[in-house]
Order: sequence, then structure tokens, then C-alpha cells
Amino acid sequence: MAIKQIEQSIIDRAFDEGWIRPEPPAHRTGQRVAVVGSGPAGLAAAQQLNRAGHRVTVFERSDRIGGLLRYGIPDFKMEKWLIDRRIDLLEAEGITFETGYDIGADVSAAQLRERFDAVVLAVGADRPRDMDVPGRGLRGIHFAMDYLVQQNRRVAGERVKAHPEITARGRKVIIVGGGDTGADCLGNVIREQCSEVQQLYIYAQPPDTRAEGNPWPQWPLILRTYPAHDEGGSREFGLMVTRFEGEHGDLRSVRAVRVEARREHGVRTFVPTFDAEVQLDADLVLIAIGYQGATRSALLDELSVTFDAGGNIGVDEGFACAPPGVFAAGDAIRGASLIVWAIADGRAAARSCDAYLTGSVRLP
Ligand SMILES: Cc1cc2nc3c(=O)[nH]c(=O)nc-3n(C[C@H](O)[C@H](O)[C@H](O)COP(=O)(O)OP(=O)(O)OC[C@H]3O[C@@H](n4cnc5c(N)ncnc54)[C@H](O)[C@@H]3O)c2cc1C
Repeated sequence: MAIKQIEQSIIDRAFDEGWIRPEPPAHRTGQRVAVVGSGPAGLAAAQQLNRAGHRVTVFERSDRIGGLLRYGIPDFKMEKWLIDRRIDLLEAEGITFETGYDIGADVSAAQLRERFDAVVLAVGADRPRDMDVPGRGLRGIHFAMDYLVQQNRRVAGERVKAHPEITARGRKVIIVGGGDTGADCLGNVIREQCSEVQQLYIYAQPPDTRAEGNPWPQWPLILRTYPAHDEGGSREFGLMVTRFEGEHGDLRSVRAVRVEARREHGVRTFVPTFDAEVQLDADLVLIAIGYQGATRSALLDELSVTFDAGGNIGVDEGFACAPPGVFAAGDAIRGASLIVWAIADGRAAARSCDAYLTGSVRLP
């Protein structure tokens, strides 16, 4: 937290004092680059490539720039004027932004290749993991991201055009999944004044401090409490959802069993520890159990990119995809991750892309 605050006060002061100014390139190379996706990976790649003198166009299928920064992460974690301030700077440096373009559908990959000398894919990893349990089709069960996008639009004062509209107001909510996305749902449903909310974790409750067998520098297997957890709701550990129950097609309750995680022959399984099922009342369920890599789209098929075993776009150590002149960065290549990684990847992909276009390594 201390490092975050130091960094934040440095950059805020830099903007206040006018130290951060647009840095357009002194010369243009005459080369054109298309960046597909306007999340942190796409924005970082675009800035570097533009500063290297290439003409950069960022294509975004959504109506606003920012990727998950705009419509995934809630305002209570990151206010959206921060993205707008950065986009103003990028536009002033000469980057073109085209929103409402689903590349692969609105513009074919062939057209993109024809108009641009290189392509950077920064399309994210938004394919959600689903639950294969009876009753999944009942009304009132949604992917967390579908809810978060709608809620971010509501908070921004936009009209939600998606159908069905997902709101937690006055609802009994169950969030399935204990990660960052689940915690962001929790903060939102509390702000929307749900009537009650429970977050279900499949794993047993971890300790508050590192166990003896989990020393530094291993990843600390400890209980993660986000600020949203201090705001309300309850957490249930070691519960696996077995089915959803409803009435006239509407969700009414969630059935779950108590389980214990075991590893047998290298495979993790969840074994019921107690026969009886638990029944929890609910009229809204948000599924937040992870992501499965980049959405397979016409764009990726047409470009003939390859995928790794995790469903992510395959790249070499220079962030280059199998087809020449195509690079990829961010969640699209590493799976759901963090903003800092997306920015670092975007800059690294830009470096390789610039070297491909100019024949020399010029970017850091
Ligand atoms: C709910 C939630 C909370 C998070 N909280 C944090 C946090 O607190 N801290 C943190 O560090 N990280 C957080 N993350 C992770 C972080 O947001 C991502 O790691 C990061 O945004 C990935 O950046 P990206 O540029 O690779 O992809 P994204 O941000 O996903 O952007 C990809 C963009 O590509 C666009 N796109 C896809 N296909 C096409 C196409 N064919 N044509 C045009 N556009 C296309 C998409 O519309 C999207 O805008 C969170 C993620 C989620 C889901």
C-alpha cells in the first residue's frame, strides 16, 4: 500500500505541475500499425509504437476505450477519469482510436493486413469458466463479468442496453468464486443495496498467516481479505455447488456440499466430506470462477494464430505470433492476469514490432 501511495502521489503531482506532456514523435516512419484491443496492453503498445514514429490506430469493439480498466474494474477501485486523462495524452501524441469496431466481424483480418504493416493483438482473455451443474439455465444466474460491465455502465451514468438487465438491488445474492472478480462483485452488490450476499469458496478457509510448510518466497497461501469484505456479506468456505433450483424458470436456491480438496496422481479433486446438501436461498447468482483464455474469434482464426495448452494466444520470446508481422500482449497471451503485466507485455511487444518494421532494435 505504501509503494502504491508513493507512486500515485508522484504521478498526480507530475500531472498537476504540467510535467507530463504529450510527446509526439519528431519523425514519422510511414509504417502503419493496427492495435486490436484498448486495454492496458493495447494502450502501452500503441504509445511506444507511436513514439517510435509509426502511425498507430487502436481498434476497440466496445463503445469506449480502456478494456477491463473501463468496464471490468469497479470505480471504487479505479476511477475512470484516470483512463480519460491518459487517453487525452495518447490522442495528443497522434494515436487514432476507433471504437465500435469488432475486428474479425466489422473489419476482416485480411482487410487489416492490407491496410497495416503490422498488427498487435491485445484482445484480453474474457472467456469465462462456466459451471456444468443442473439448473444452470434458470433465470437469475449470470457470469460475473456480464454483471460488472452493466454495473460499471450504470455507475458511469450510461444506459444499460444489454438484455437481461442484471441488478442486485433488493436481491439475495450468491457469488460463486473467491478471487478478485468475486470481491469486485461483492463491493458492487453491496453498493446496489442487495438484501443479502454470500460468497462461496470451494477451498477450505486458509490461515491468516503463512503455514510452516509455506515459507517465503513461495506464494503465501493465506486468507485474502479485500476492502469489500469489510463492507458486508459473509463468506462460506469448502462448499461446492451441486445444482441450482427454481420455480417457473426463476432461480430460487443453490444446493451445495461440503468438500475437501485432495491431490490424487497429480490431479486435484474435491471430495464431499459430509453427505447432506446445504440449501441456500438466492435469486441472483454471479459466477466468478475464473477465465479460460482468449475468446476464439473469426479474427484469430483468420490470422491463423496458434494457441497454447491454456487457451492463450501462442507467442515466441519476442511476443511474435506464428504469422509474420503479428504480435500479441497482455491477458491474451498469459490468461487473466494483472495490469502491470499487461503494460509490460504491451511495451515488449511494441519493441519487437518496431524491430520487425525497421530492422533495428530501438525501443526499450
Ligand atoms: C473484475 C476484474 C477486476 C480486476 N482488478 C484488477 C486489479 O485490481 N488490479 C490489477 O492489476 N488487475 C486487475 N484485473 C486484471 C486486469 O484488468 C487485466 O489483467 C488487464 O486489463 C488485461 O489487459 P489487456 O489489455 O490484456 O486486456 P483487456 O483489458 O481485457 O482489454 C482487451 C480489449 O480488447 C477488446 N477486444 C477483444 N477482441 C476484440 C476485437 N476482435 N476487436 C476489437 N476489440 C477487441 C476488448 O473489448 C477489450 O476492451 C481485474 C480484472 C477483472 C476482470
